[in-house]
Amino acid sequence: MNQEEITTEQTESNVMRYFQVNDQCNGCLACVQNCPANALRAEDSTANRVLSHNMARCARCGNCYRICPQKAIEFQFMLENGWDEVKTLEMVYCSVCGDPVYTVDYRRTLSEKLGTQSEPTCSKHRDEVTRAAKAHFLKGRSPNMRGGAI
Ligand code: SF4
Ligand code: SF4
Repeated sequence: MNQEEITTEQTESNVMRYFQVNDQCNGCLACVQNCPANALRAEDSTANRVLSHNMARCARCGNCYRICPQKAIEFQFMLENGWDEVKTLEMVYCSVCGDPVYTVDYRRTLSEKLGTQSEPTCSKHRDEVTRAAKAHFLKGRSPNMRGGAI
């Protein structure tokens, strides 16, 4: 399986999301034959002709749209300025105020790298927690050590 086939399979649910043609398309292939970027292809089987579009190759030049004799290419979708959600990650919350701090997976990575797991704290409460930890550390030590470098 080559890279192009893998990419096609991975995006199967999004096939032709940007490059959309309406029911007027009769498969004349004018768009495929006149695409300067080879971003369109047609594959014929005994039963079907399948048109495919490759967004990574497409220059959004609009040539296919202008040349299509059927006015079948809905070029407006190619010009959409939208965001595609690529991943959803669970958050870890500040142990003091409950604000989101970072993701569970990021925390795991951090713990593996540092070999330890600290309380999650937001930037607002990080100093507060550090001060409390320092006070706890110094508690019971000689007065000479308090306030000095640790
Ligand atoms: S030029 Fe238009 S009608 Fe012809 S194959 Fe392309 S989209 Fe379909
Ligand atoms: S917009 Fe241009 S590069 Fe993209 S498929 Fe159409 S003709 Fe090809």
